[in-house]
Amino acid sequence: MSRRVDVLGVQMDLGAGVRGVDMGPSAVRYAGLVERLSALGWTVRDRGNVAAPVRHAIASTGPLRYAQEIAACCVDVRASVAASFRDGATPLLLGGDHSLAIGALAAARDARPDLRVLWLDAHGDLNTARTTPSGNVHGTPLAVALGRVPGPFDACGWRESPIRADHVALVGVRDLDPGERELIAELRVLVYTIADVDRLGIHQVMTDALGKLAAPPGSLYVSVDLDVVDPQHAPGVGTPVPGGLTVREMHLAMELVAEAGPLAGLDLVEINPIRDVANQTAQLATGLALSAFGKRIL
Ligand code: MG
Ligand code: MG
Repeated sequence: MSRRVDVLGVQMDLGAGVRGVDMGPSAVRYAGLVERLSALGWTVRDRGNVAAPVRHAIASTGPLRYAQEIAACCVDVRASVAASFRDGATPLLLGGDHSLAIGALAAARDARPDLRVLWLDAHGDLNTARTTPSGNVHGTPLAVALGRVPGPFDACGWRESPIRADHVALVGVRDLDPGERELIAELRVLVYTIADVDRLGIHQVMTDALGKLAAPPGSLYVSVDLDVVDPQHAPGVGTPVPGGLTVREMHLAMELVAEAGPLAGLDLVEINPIRDVANQTAQLATGLALSAFGKRIL
């Protein structure tokens, strides 16, 4: 596999309830992502940002706020990530709210027919237009990718080519809405809650998850919502939930991802510099990217 990484920022906060995650890509770059990945031996190309419309300049309608605008941005994300796959580079996306995965996953699905998805998040991101309590699209992207949210996101091909539910695993979940619980039960989505991590330990949980996903080399896409980490260590997120993973648990999770083989792609999302303390969440995100791309202590 090539040793090339393409970094792509997505300046979008339309899918979040709290503003500010559109500045996440800048914060992660400021933390030295490109330089540190290069020092690790990767050839890194920073492909700049995909921009979304400015939120106060547009009105939103419908049960999912800004769905049209987010879908349009995700079409751009898909095209940009597809270009990285064509060039033989591994895409590394910086968010931005978690809606960006609707576009990034579409490109990964197009490029990797055996795609598997590992979703690390305090939340399920499995709401639909019918079940969403908030109307925020960042609570839906996994349901979109499973083909459960018809509408503007069909522009990314999710109606005709959804990801199979048994090709998805969630880790670190601790805040689910009623409709998400129903969808998990209906589709039998593989979910490792934070209570599973308490009981089994992160090593066992990740080993189980990666084993069951059984991704062929180059076919594992990892989506990291920084709110999976405890807010004590990652305060700069849009939707903090107490009782999350520790810094070391999260690094071990990423080290196990790296050991599982080359990635299809990685995203680091929901980084909110406005809520952060001295950029520590963006610095953590950068360190996690390094672990996922093979950095070892010794
Ligand atoms: Mg979340
Ligand atoms: Mg999320």
